Amino acid sequence: MNAETVCARCGGAGWVLEDSGGSKVAKRCTCYGDRRKQALVDQANIPRRYQNCRLENFEVHNDSHGDAKKISEKFVKNYPSQEVGLLFIGPCGVGKTHLAVSIIQELILKKDVRCIFYDFRDLIREIQSTFTPDSILSESDVLTPVFQAEVLVLDELGAKRTSAWVEETVFYIINYRYNHKKLTIFTTNYPDTDEEEDRRDSFYKKGEENLVNRIGVRLRSRIYEMCKVIEITGDDYRKMAKQAGYRF
Ligand SMILES: [Zn+2]
Repeated sequence: MNAETVCARCGGAGWVLEDSGGSKVAKRCTCYGDRRKQALVDQANIPRRYQNCRLENFEVHNDSHGDAKKISEKFVKNYPSQEVGLLFIGPCGVGKTHLAVSIIQELILKKDVRCIFYDFRDLIREIQSTFTPDSILSESDVLTPVFQAEVLVLDELGAKRTSAWVEETVFYIINYRYNHKKLTIFTTNYPDTDEEEDRRDSFYKKGEENLVNRIGVRLRSRIYEMCKVIEITGDDYRKMAKQAGYRF
């Protein structure tokens, strides 16, 4: 449905009059729920390339994909009695963002939950941009929807280098959500290991970088308190599918 379509049943009022024992009773038109859902979808800030992501079209290539999909389905089913968020960890192109987006799409469509998606770098950039003197938006214009959403997806955690300022700001957001029992779903490409136990192959390792280097000890430990960690392994399926589609 697009915003310009006027409902034929109610003329856009959202109410219809129905006969009930000789008198007319106002009832919610069926379009009302659709409009509410559409508004939730519009506010969710989901990038265009992820808009068709659903749990049912998530491709399972190995056991870790199957487990991650099952946990995601359970998350949607259990919400709002779900008590912890999720942290998807794995290399690029294994479907972490697909799952995170699918969860919030389904929460919006099935349960009318207010959700918001942010790429970690975009969020930092938007907050920083409010500090310039000619900024139209204030810091709270950017942060209020992030604080208030019932479920936040923070994609690519650690993708921007931390400075003390970034660390403080992100901790403030995450901690606020934790204290208000709001769930957050994170994705990250950075393995969560200390150097001694890091026996992963070079594809998975990004030099000496791990999650703690990128986001700091305090934030990492808070995220572990508020999330179930889900590791996804595998090759870069997005790249492989793309390459298979190029014909010469
Ligand atoms: Zn209507």
